[in-house]
Amino acid sequence: MKARQKKLYKTPEAGVLRVAYKDDATALNGERREIFAGKGRRNNQITSLIFRYLKAKGIDSHFIEEISETEQLVQEVEIIPLEVVVRNVLAGSLAKRLGKSEGELIEQPIVEFYYKEDALNDPFINDDHVLFLEVATNREVEILKQEAKRINAALTELFKKAGVTLVDFKVEFGRTKDGSILLSDEISPDTCRLWDVETNEKLDKDVFRRNIGNLITVYDEILARLEEVVRNV
Ligand code: UDP
Repeated sequence: MKARQKKLYKTPEAGVLRVAYKDDATALNGERREIFAGKGRRNNQITSLIFRYLKAKGIDSHFIEEISETEQLVQEVEIIPLEVVVRNVLAGSLAKRLGKSEGELIEQPIVEFYYKEDALNDPFINDDHVLFLEVATNREVEILKQEAKRINAALTELFKKAGVTLVDFKVEFGRTKDGSILLSDEISPDTCRLWDVETNEKLDKDVFRRNIGNLITVYDEILARLEEVVRNV
């Protein structure tokens, strides 16, 4: 069982939840776990900034507002059990699967689905598997792919202004009461691979996964750079 990095609470308002970001970091599907004091605050602030930015670019999400250093209010949705991954540069599990080294540019961004099922270690699945499992309809699959690409284009531009290459990222979507698809969960250095444009230094959770640096230092760097970008737009 993966340790949860966020906790969801009901609020007095129907359809509105409170998310509290925790300081836990996990890797290897929960086998490694560590607490980093202040990680929750950074991820809350980075996710809030990104969801606000996406909204300004016409991409809606479950985000309503940031209510404290570590908490947000979000719209309640029914989460679709898929991790939707978009890749711009070869890295991580895809580099491994294809037997190639990390760093190769992917000209046409690749969208992938992973089935969110802890007992199975979130396996990679294709569109037909998604339909077979009945986790999304054909139409929804098309929307998920299209939205993932739109999010990728907007985020690539944002991170580029921050001197960061958006290598890959994972997003999750939910269904609202009226059945529409809404971007949900979080977008942070926990869920993105972020490399410095000049040096390719890793500024994301890989510093923890691979034991190659200080997680809080690099998350701070990402927050500071993003704040600088949004201040100047
Ligand atoms: N990712 C995530 N949660 C997961 C698995 C992956 O946020 O449970 C993100 C990861 O941070 C990266 C992208 O999805 O930005 C692609 O990850 P990959 O498939 O390469 O898996 P990894 O090797 O990171 O486990």
